[in-house]
Amino acid sequence: MCANARLCRTNPDRLRPPLARLSLSASELKGPQPVTDKPRLTLYLAAPRGFCAGVDRAIKIVEMALQKWGPPVYVRHEIVHNAYVVDGLRKKGAVFVEELDECPDDRPVIFSAHGEPKAVPAEAARRDMLFVDATCPLVSKVHIEAERHHANGLQMVMIGHQGHPETVGTMGQLPEGEVILVETAGDVAGITPRDPEKLAYITQTTLSVDDTAGIVAALQARFPAIVGPHKEDICYATTNRQEAVKAMAPRVDAMLVIGAPNSSNSRRLVEVGRSAGCSYAQLVQRATDIDWRALGSIGSVGVTAGASAPEVLVNEVIDAFRARFDVTVETVETAVEAVEFKVPRVLREPA
Ligand code: SF4
Repeated sequence: MCANARLCRTNPDRLRPPLARLSLSASELKGPQPVTDKPRLTLYLAAPRGFCAGVDRAIKIVEMALQKWGPPVYVRHEIVHNAYVVDGLRKKGAVFVEELDECPDDRPVIFSAHGEPKAVPAEAARRDMLFVDATCPLVSKVHIEAERHHANGLQMVMIGHQGHPETVGTMGQLPEGEVILVETAGDVAGITPRDPEKLAYITQTTLSVDDTAGIVAALQARFPAIVGPHKEDICYATTNRQEAVKAMAPRVDAMLVIGAPNSSNSRRLVEVGRSAGCSYAQLVQRATDIDWRALGSIGSVGVTAGASAPEVLVNEVIDAFRARFDVTVETVETAVEAVEFKVPRVLREPA
């Protein structure tokens, strides 16, 4: 025991050398005194966020196909729009291609969650390829709807984004010219359907609920006979994630949406955040994309993730905030999801 032990116990701060203060453990530092001089930040975490049932199923399909048939397994298009997920599957042996003619006849091929034009599985069948369709069942529901209206003699108007794989896939369910694409309410005035009395509309599943309502209103105003879907085409996951963002946006100084630039539902979350009152809403793929300088000295931040962003990236962003702020996490829960989709039978059966 050192000669000054008694004095140290009596008035430790006066006698303890500066080095000893630096070497205090984290547990010694815990207590009524503040443990950090980092600025305080409340991090609001949206719930639901991240993976939806369709994305979860699509990833499982690729993983199960790799287990069942071994690598390589070919995947047409990014299975879901997330580079982290795609790179992970690539490391396990998935080969991502843009077109079917890049796949050999003798290896399995998987079609992405966004859906494919009819011609793609037809070509795979003609080549006698083994293929598994990972199209989300909620996208397939829109395909079936389009076919049903077509069979009843109605021309389709699709509300969606030009060039997005889901829009290409849905429009490709019907012969050329049978689906008219509309992207904005302003587009409605310029379309020339065959017969304005025989029209129906469908939508992409990942659109902004509020923007779509405006486009539907414009369609109904110009074509009063237009037929809508039995049940909303915008899916439960898109709707729930947008609702959580709307609840969170007015309380936060800034909002980050974790998602890919080509992820439609993630980009819509950014737009919804801005229009619900958060002027700084940004898309980030992962923590390294956060612009700390632009965030400045915020006191609160909202964090959510698009339907194709895994939870590991959410945790990475929270950890990045913890490194700079004294963070309190609060969940903003607006819905509880329990949706699950089965993988196709061919993957549930033994090899
Ligand atoms: S966002 Fe909706 S439609 Fe798209 S994969 Fe997920 S559940 Fe399916």
